[in-house]
Amino acid sequence: MSLPDLAGKVHAECVRCGLCAEQCAFLQKYGLPGDIAKSVLNSRFQVDPFECSLCQLCTEVCPEGINPSQMFLSMRTQSVSRSPAILKKYRRILAYEALGRSGLMSLYKTPEGCRAVFFPGCSISGTRSESTWKLFQGLRKSVPGLGVVLDCCCKPSHDLGNMDKFRNSFQRIVSRLHARGVEEIITACPSCFWIFKSYARHLCVKMIWEYLNPDKDCLAGSEKRPRVRLHDPCTIRFFPDVQEKVRALIRGLDLDLQELPLNSRKTLCCGEGGSVGFVNKDTAMKWGRMRKEQAGNDAVITYCAGCAGFLSLSGITTVHLADLLLDLKKALSGEIIPDKPPMTYWNRLRLKRRFVRALLK
Ligand code: SF4
Ligand code: SF4
Repeated sequence: MSLPDLAGKVHAECVRCGLCAEQCAFLQKYGLPGDIAKSVLNSRFQVDPFECSLCQLCTEVCPEGINPSQMFLSMRTQSVSRSPAILKKYRRILAYEALGRSGLMSLYKTPEGCRAVFFPGCSISGTRSESTWKLFQGLRKSVPGLGVVLDCCCKPSHDLGNMDKFRNSFQRIVSRLHARGVEEIITACPSCFWIFKSYARHLCVKMIWEYLNPDKDCLAGSEKRPRVRLHDPCTIRFFPDVQEKVRALIRGLDLDLQELPLNSRKTLCCGEGGSVGFVNKDTAMKWGRMRKEQAGNDAVITYCAGCAGFLSLSGITTVHLADLLLDLKKALSGEIIPDKPPMTYWNRLRLKRRFVRALLK
């Protein structure tokens, strides 16, 4: 749908109830979606759509079934097509995407008869290469003929509204998978999961948690069950099956899992969404501060490497589910420290080499 059509729909259907603005700093700053839509139709809008995290909380809470974030993404697309120079501010994240797509970092390794591939995602591969490697080893036991694909799903370009680039790049990934007969993607990254679910609907797309079982004895001897919280990534907002599987895994570890207010379908953005921090750090950090108030001093488990990194900037003790499942005691005691750039790039290269060797055997 074009931007005028989207704006016309939002303007006509929004009853200005204000529910969507209750937890959203962007809407609190710029006004309700119906009013923003009206200014778009009049070509008089003074809204910076690049300050919206595209988290879709507004879509979830809207009693009228309106999808304001779709309109804000379309506004981004219009801005980028009119002034491509806008993207200069995002050089760092776009360079990260380009490197992930390059021959240096990417890998398509599919053994004979391969139907399913592990597509870990750039972020977890760099920050937690050892946990990613162990996830692969575990997955291999339950998925015969498993292959590996290292590539960037191009969500940065998508979220920045550079849709032509996104479509071309993503289509190349899908074509390469198709040429190798791949029918199933198993990922450890919620963003990759969301992109494949949204734009490659012919593929079976799963998160790796659906294949894993925790070692129930790993807390044997512990006197009390540590209390933990869980943060669902906003890309998993509309996937209750994944949310439930993650909770079952955590409960299987005999942890005292306490729900945070505003989670599952109503989860908050961690602050990283939509690259808002590149244009307004304060708005981006507001989400993390809200989470910190809710979590207090409890450790917060998440299953997105990006969320883990961003929430920790607000002083939250975050634990990635992959680290927790693979070495619970070390993960909870803070002994597993995620790597940072430039080490993350080196990790990805080493991981690529390990995958190549493993799949040659
Ligand atoms: S997508 Fe998220 S940040 Fe954007 S308007 Fe909706 S609730 Fe606010
Ligand atoms: S929740 Fe829906 S109807 Fe209410 S102000 Fe937001 S977009 Fe409009």
